[in-house]
Amino acid sequence: MRSELKDKSIFNKSIEFAYKYMDNIEEQSVYPENSAIENLDIFDEELSDNSTAGIEIIDKLHRFGSPATIAQIGGMYFGFVNGSIIPVALAARWLADTWDQNAAMYVSSPIASKLEQVAQNWIVDLLKLPEKTVMGLVSGTSTATFIGLVTARNAVLKKKGWNVNEDGLFGAPKIRVIISEGAHSSVFKALALLGIGMGSVERIPTDDQGRILTAKIPELDDTSILILQAGNVNTGAFDDFREIYNRANGAWIHIDGAFGLWVAASSKLKYLTDGIDLADSWSVDGHKTLNTPYDCGIILCKHEYGLVSAMQATGSYLKFSEKRDGMLYVAEMSRRARSVDLWASLKFLGKNGVSELVEGFHDLSVELANLLTINNFIILNEIVFNQVLVSCKSSEKNSELLDILQKSGQTWMGDTVWRGQRVIRVSICSWATTKDDINSLVNLFVSARLLLGS
Ligand SMILES: *Cc1c(COP(=O)(O)O)cnc(C)c1O
Repeated sequence: MRSELKDKSIFNKSIEFAYKYMDNIEEQSVYPENSAIENLDIFDEELSDNSTAGIEIIDKLHRFGSPATIAQIGGMYFGFVNGSIIPVALAARWLADTWDQNAAMYVSSPIASKLEQVAQNWIVDLLKLPEKTVMGLVSGTSTATFIGLVTARNAVLKKKGWNVNEDGLFGAPKIRVIISEGAHSSVFKALALLGIGMGSVERIPTDDQGRILTAKIPELDDTSILILQAGNVNTGAFDDFREIYNRANGAWIHIDGAFGLWVAASSKLKYLTDGIDLADSWSVDGHKTLNTPYDCGIILCKHEYGLVSAMQATGSYLKFSEKRDGMLYVAEMSRRARSVDLWASLKFLGKNGVSELVEGFHDLSVELANLLTINNFIILNEIVFNQVLVSCKSSEKNSELLDILQKSGQTWMGDTVWRGQRVIRVSICSWATTKDDINSLVNLFVSARLLLGS
């Protein structure tokens, strides 16, 4: 093994293939062709008794794997809210992967720990969150939300004289959890995992943009948990945080801001996040809007003691290190050094770059909505940020139209059900998407409709 680290041929091969992949991204089908997907059967083999040469492994991965990827790093992918990858963040990750650091504690990786601390300071400043806010790095917003809600649950039960770490949940006093009907599926999943249950929460209806109806929120107190949203996954809409805070009576407020929270960095769009600083905890992704590589979820919490005691179930273990131990803020121990690519993305963009990134997504979304409207498509949402819901006529026609777009190989996006109708959902969240890409996308919509004959 040690002598093999000196032989760079497999690494050179891997880099050569990665460069080829980057250079070919415009030509590659945005969704893999059927033949490429069928070829994946080549991987269905018994584990061999003997070793396989490294070069053969990398070669196989590129030959059969690369063509079966989603061309997400190009500018024509608009599926889910996936985002692309900032080149220098990828480069930083390559280096950090070589280091193979364990970001659990300061002692296991001083560099991972240092960059985690720096990224925390930058993010708290950029999003204008309360000064004492602390951050933990996890796999994604699903986990970040879960951790935020574990902390919230333990804190409100503590107020009722119940210690969850010691006494568990059986027999615990009931707590009120208030959530929008429009919350992301991952929040309901978190509630199920938490032992709160999806059925025992109070679901509040939303307006025509998917914003929680503030007036329908019941009278709360400081032993309730209220879950809000910065960026509805369909419309991109934001709840009215300030107004809701004024009615919340000290309830723990958690904001799911997976892709939307970053608009706080833009002077033009930050009106959408007005009042987020009044919440107690926030979850947000690096790998969506910020375009970091995958596996970058962020939990932010105003109450350091609450978060750390929720994550360090055994009291004797509970310690705040002078040097930052990242594992204190999350559920995992061993973790890759997520802070490296997060730090590199922020360092590359700077404050103005983050602002330009989110404003760029918004400008292109407005442009797309305008051009589609001119071409007689129906836009179903207000374009507050980066999500565009498109309809050509009926659920049936939308599905047929989408099928043509998806099979074109020129672009890819998904659909959703919005107010009872199946509609096409375009998410603009890749730094690589240009105005020309938006024009091409509009042309694809128009020619797909011609093919439909309607
Ligand atoms: C994507 C998303 C999530 C889940 O985030 P993951 O990083 O996929 O775990 C939660 N909430 C919203 C609004 C999202 O868009």
